[in-house]
Amino acid sequence: MDALTCIKKLGYVGVLDFATVDEDGAPQVRNISAIHYEGTDIYFLTARGKYFASQLRRDGRVQILGYTRYKETIRVSGRAEEVPEDEQLKWRNVLYEEQPYLENVYPGETKNIDTIFVLREYAIEYFCLSTRPITREYFAVGIARVKPKGYAVTDACVGCGACLAVCPQNAIGEGAPYAIDRNHCLQCGNCAEHCPVGAIRRVCG
Ligand code: SF4
Ligand code: SF4
Repeated sequence: MDALTCIKKLGYVGVLDFATVDEDGAPQVRNISAIHYEGTDIYFLTARGKYFASQLRRDGRVQILGYTRYKETIRVSGRAEEVPEDEQLKWRNVLYEEQPYLENVYPGETKNIDTIFVLREYAIEYFCLSTRPITREYFAVGIARVKPKGYAVTDACVGCGACLAVCPQNAIGEGAPYAIDRNHCLQCGNCAEHCPVGAIRRVCG
């Protein structure tokens, strides 16, 4: 798996969930289908008057979520920016050509209320439940940073093996200390709950 393949998979999914935060810090999510992929750049369309647009302008952070028929979750996290004024028409035309239904939504001159945003630098989390063990991979596009997540074994480990016995995905290897393979970890926390010495810590990004 790689970043571009993840993006292509999102293209096949089609309609994606886009989450932002509002002025109170509350999550706001909506489905977006007016998306164009240019390599790893993700262009998407909304209307200037939508709450979605004002949240993007104020905060910029957006998280995109897609789920494929093969039980793959692809999560994209980054900061979107509005396309410069002199490029708006170009990208609007591209989107309308790919998504003819938009002409029905914004017929004629009403499409002038549209605005295009682009996401160029972002982190991707790929999570597949149809493999055994499950697969989890992380990718960074541009200068975006992938925040570490999941669980890690600390030096407090005494090698008792209790965590290994309760891991549903066999994602823990023996050693001093024991180690969690984050590419196969569900992040369920069962190992941490069963460690007798509290040696397993949640990793905060
Ligand atoms: S349960 Fe805790 S102490 Fe025992 S092997 Fe796992 S991490 Fe180490
Ligand atoms: S968090 Fe769950 S899946 Fe990951 S290592 Fe611990 S028990 Fe296994």
